[in-house]
Amino acid sequence: MGFFSRLFGRKKAKNEEKVKCSCHSEEVTAPEKATYVADLPAVGYVPNLQTPPGGKIKIALYWVAGCGGCDVSILDSDEKVLNIGTMADIVMWPIAADGKEHDIAAMEDGSITVSLINGAIRNSENEAMAKLLRQKSKLVISYGTCACFGGTPALANLVNNTHEVLDYVYTKTPSSASFQNEYHRDKAVLPQTSYKTPDGELTLPMIYDTVKSLDQVIDVDYYVPGCPPTQETISKLLNALIAFVYEGVALPPKGSYIGVEDKSLCEECPRHKENRRIEKIREPYEVNIDPDLCLMDQGILCLGAATVSGCGAKCTRVGQPCRGCYGPTRQVQEQGASIFTAVASLFPVTEEDPTCGEDKIIKTMSSIKDPLGYFYAFSMAKALIKGKVTEGGR
Ligand code: SF4
Ligand code: SF4
Ligand code: SF4
Repeated sequence: MGFFSRLFGRKKAKNEEKVKCSCHSEEVTAPEKATYVADLPAVGYVPNLQTPPGGKIKIALYWVAGCGGCDVSILDSDEKVLNIGTMADIVMWPIAADGKEHDIAAMEDGSITVSLINGAIRNSENEAMAKLLRQKSKLVISYGTCACFGGTPALANLVNNTHEVLDYVYTKTPSSASFQNEYHRDKAVLPQTSYKTPDGELTLPMIYDTVKSLDQVIDVDYYVPGCPPTQETISKLLNALIAFVYEGVALPPKGSYIGVEDKSLCEECPRHKENRRIEKIREPYEVNIDPDLCLMDQGILCLGAATVSGCGAKCTRVGQPCRGCYGPTRQVQEQGASIFTAVASLFPVTEEDPTCGEDKIIKTMSSIKDPLGYFYAFSMAKALIKGKVTEGGR
């Protein structure tokens, strides 16, 4: 039995059980239930790190439908990124290293120790690559909010119609409208999955109507939320991997969310809450922001109450409302609906003080620009709302 086989067959840790994963032949550890893991020590650059006793592990990093920010967050981790180079052979990382799809396809199943996949599943190529990496990897980490919850790409689910999205992007935005007007005045040209040229056929992946999170397409072992994950979160993940590879320390239970705590962001936010009643919703630029008072108390919509803690309240500390990028708390399945409820509870309608009538509530809520975009900016793929409904239409 090799070193890594022994690691993957290590002693049971608390809250774990042995299962045979359907995606690879070796036993891996599965949890009784998903866990939030925040108390991992963070690690900086380890100058004396040597090659692991069983030889370098293999790591793949891949982006599907994302913005690139998640990849950059790893590149941006200063000297810590060198730990990865010492510990692992990077078999694929399009942003930083070579490694082609056919190279991965030629590898034995389960021969990549860990794949970090960021981005949502938007098209047929995203899905094929996610499935390929799953097949070739012992562990798959859903890295970043797009992979965990759909992220901003999943806002397109509100339209749920690829043609409508492409038509808008390629004909209605100022730059694309001007391009089409100049070059395709008779009939606008949209991307096609296949195009015949004199030299052969060109193909593009098929874009799906519905954007999915990674775990809606493949089995995922761990989740690392954040848009992108903070350096603190990356350090915790890296430390867990180093301890696992070098010392055989058990990884957290399968399904764990790394770097988040089982409480809401409001609990780690330093601002004090007075639960003032909302009379008017304001944009941050409209308010001379009190540095100590809860932003909701100042009329600024903040999603902290429905968002899991872990980022260190990065935005609220500098006077910007939380937009919910770390995803919902465990108590909240529907992040958007939860914040709607939190906002509703702050309207001044109590039996003792029925000063806020229905008209006023509707007027106040209507002043929120793009409410679905605001409340579901990161979690649309896992929202109960699946798309828009048009009268007489879908
Ligand atoms: S989670 Fe944020 S940073 Fe990462 S790919 Fe998605 S949009 Fe970009
Ligand atoms: S609502 Fe926002 S500003 Fe207020 S305590 Fe919660 S996270 Fe902080
Ligand atoms: S405060 Fe909210 S939006 Fe900002 S980084 Fe943290 S979870 Fe993300």
